[in-house]
Amino acid sequence: MSPLIAIDGPAGSGKSTVAAAVAGRLGLARLDTGAMYRAVTLLVLRAGADPGDAGQAGELAASMVLSLGEQVLLDGEDVTAAIRTPAVDAAVSAVSAHPGVRAELVARQRAWAAAHGGGVVEGRDIGSVVFPDADLKVYLTADPGERARRRVDQRGAVPTGLEVAEAPAEALAALAARDAYDSGRPTSPLTVPDGAIVVDSTHLSVDAVVEEVLRHL
Ligand code: C5P
Repeated sequence: MSPLIAIDGPAGSGKSTVAAAVAGRLGLARLDTGAMYRAVTLLVLRAGADPGDAGQAGELAASMVLSLGEQVLLDGEDVTAAIRTPAVDAAVSAVSAHPGVRAELVARQRAWAAAHGGGVVEGRDIGSVVFPDADLKVYLTADPGERARRRVDQRGAVPTGLEVAEAPAEALAALAARDAYDSGRPTSPLTVPDGAIVVDSTHLSVDAVVEEVLRHL
C-alpha cells in the first residue's frame, strides 16, 4: 500500500506543480481533482446551462466519461486546454458548489485512490472531506499577488487559442473571487484540514516546498 498524500490550497498556490513533483519523487500516481470540476463546468457551459442549476450540473457530472493523465479526455475528446480558460475559471466555483456534483466526483476520487492503493491527490477538500485519514495533509498557500503572477505565467505557456490571456490585475480579481466563493460555500469549503502542515510558498522555490513536504512524510 502506497501513502495517500492530500494537497489542498487556493488557486495558484502551486498545488499542481508540487503534487506532480512529490508524486514523481515517490513514484506515486497523482490526481488533479480541480480538473474534474473543470470538466463538469465545460460540459455545463457547452450545454448552455446555468452554472447555478444544480440538477443539470449533477446529471452532466454523473454521465461524463473522464480520463485524467497527461491529457484530460472528456467523453473521448482532449479538453486539456479547454478546461483552463477564463470562462471555465469564472463558472467553476458555482458548478462545484452543488452537493450532487461533489458527491459524484468524490466517489470517483475515492475509487481512484482505492484502485491505485494511494497516491497524491490535490484539490480544495481532499484532507478535510475526501480523505480525512490521509497519511499526510498539506495546505499550500501563497500571497494573492504571487498567485496571480504565477497564473498569468502558466497561462501564457498554454496555447489554448480560445481566449486572450488575462492581465495580472484581471487574474488577481478572478482568483480573489474564486477564493471567496470556494471558502464561503456551505458544502466542503476550502479550509485548512485538521492535522495539515501549512506551507507558504510565496518566497520558496518548488524544490524547497517539495523538500518540506517530503520531510513530513
Ligand atoms: O485546482 P483548480 O484551480 O483547477 O480548481 C478549480 C475549481 O474547482 C476550484 O476553484 C474549486 O471551485 C473547484 N474544486 C473543488 N474541490 C476540489 C478541487 C477543485 O471545489 N477538490
